[in-house]
Amino acid sequence: MELWFTEKHTKQVSFSMKVDKQLVSVQGDYQRIDVLKTPEFGRVLVLDGYLMVTEKDEFIYHEMISHVPMAVNPNIKKVLVIGAGDGGTIRELTRYASIELIDMVEIDKKVVEVCKEYLPTTACKLDDERVHIYYEDGLKFVRTKENEYDLIIVDSTDPFGPGEGLFTKEFYGNCYKALKEDGILINQHESPYYEDDAKVMERAHRQIKSTFPISKVYQMHIPTYPSGHWFFGFASKTLDPVKDLKAKEWNEKQIKTRYYNTDLHVGAFAIPNYVKELLNEE
Ligand code: SAM
Repeated sequence: MELWFTEKHTKQVSFSMKVDKQLVSVQGDYQRIDVLKTPEFGRVLVLDGYLMVTEKDEFIYHEMISHVPMAVNPNIKKVLVIGAGDGGTIRELTRYASIELIDMVEIDKKVVEVCKEYLPTTACKLDDERVHIYYEDGLKFVRTKENEYDLIIVDSTDPFGPGEGLFTKEFYGNCYKALKEDGILINQHESPYYEDDAKVMERAHRQIKSTFPISKVYQMHIPTYPSGHWFFGFASKTLDPVKDLKAKEWNEKQIKTRYYNTDLHVGAFAIPNYVKELLNEE
């Protein structure tokens, strides 16, 4: 008998992968958590039936969410990461000796427990002494912070269920307040290709743009996400992601990456015309 995992990308489009074995299936505080073993993508984390991370392509997502801001501001010392229970973003950030503190706010403790046991590829640095994990809602956590962080990374689920509040104007306003003068906000920005994802992307960009003086989006190819064409947002009070890129400084650190490099950094911000149109950036 063959086992397959299928995620609906739209009402008319599905994406399927063959499964060798379901390694674990538990109910967390906010969502059902599954880890599957697959022949093509390695281990795969699924929350409430939605694919979050695969061992085969997670490097693209995690390198792009962390190295882009670190190459723009090499003086980042204090970081807030919201969501990120699989640990992949933390793994990349801990490669910088210059980072002194990482506050990680994950709403569902069970995701972290499951990932530590079944997804060591991404969860391997969650015990780094600079990492402080808070099990609470990122929306509430950030309300009380002012002028504290050099970088905020929102590595969340999609905007329904617990992730919903992380796509609101109130949240972006609180991130602005929590960031220092040269602070950077990176957020999971969905995709422009399918209609429902495009609506979320357009709304998030509009809200961030009305909050931060600099607000750009950048793209990458994630084979297992809907359409494969995915975006993150880069917002800041003072730093431009391309003009202020410190390419030489970043390359001197000799951080070995599989996807990110400083040429690709510049190219990732050159976005297709239909996306410019969607975001009113023509
Ligand atoms: N790479 C993933 C993706 O975009 O598909 C995201 C991965 S990570 C597992 C997302 C995490 O965000 C989940 O573990 C979830 O529990 C957490 N999360 C969702 N809403 C949250 C909130 N309001 N505050 C803190 N964490 C939240």
